[in-house]
Amino acid sequence: MRSISEDISQYGFVRRVWLCMTRKLPPSLSHLDELNWEILIVTGDDVTDYFAIVCSGGKIIASTALIELHSSDVELATMLAHEVAHIMARHGVEMCTKVELISMIDCVLNLFVLIDFYETCEFEADYIGLLLMAAAGYDPRQAPKFYEKMTMFDEPVKFPLLARFLDSHPSSKERAKAVARPEIMQEALILYKDARGRRGVE
Ligand SMILES: [Zn+2]
Repeated sequence: MRSISEDISQYGFVRRVWLCMTRKLPPSLSHLDELNWEILIVTGDDVTDYFAIVCSGGKIIASTALIELHSSDVELATMLAHEVAHIMARHGVEMCTKVELISMIDCVLNLFVLIDFYETCEFEADYIGLLLMAAAGYDPRQAPKFYEKMTMFDEPVKFPLLARFLDSHPSSKERAKAVARPEIMQEALILYKDARGRRGVE
């Protein structure tokens, strides 16, 4: 059972990091301002309540449990940047097109195509999110730690094919590894140093 959280301190924390992150973004990303961003925190009491999602209009829904787990500014910025990245990459629109296409083809095997697509979206949002948080002045070297913390929810895989069929998200271990890849981290570090330079703190 989930309900809207009334935890004012958590809303205050999210609002502070959100403003801090969005104010520091470079002018080239000012079009993101046009969306009607809103963050809703929900509360619940089982393990699946560690989640965050974003709707195409700009509404981010995150659980209290996930925010408590990632209680530092940089961790929350990693999570928020990932959700914003889904919007930037228009994953919602692409997802609808793909689902429509697959329902037309009507073949179970095509579910694998859809799951592959979900995974690609997650990796893509992790990558764009990494660049976004770095451009906002958050240290991208902290992002792999965010995903490593989530590995406690990675299930031991007994039947990889079945697990692949049932789970649309890549494992947190894979995601931590992907954002830590040197070529990606290097790109993010350039943006991070540039952001720090703009603020004259380094
Ligand atoms: Zn995602």
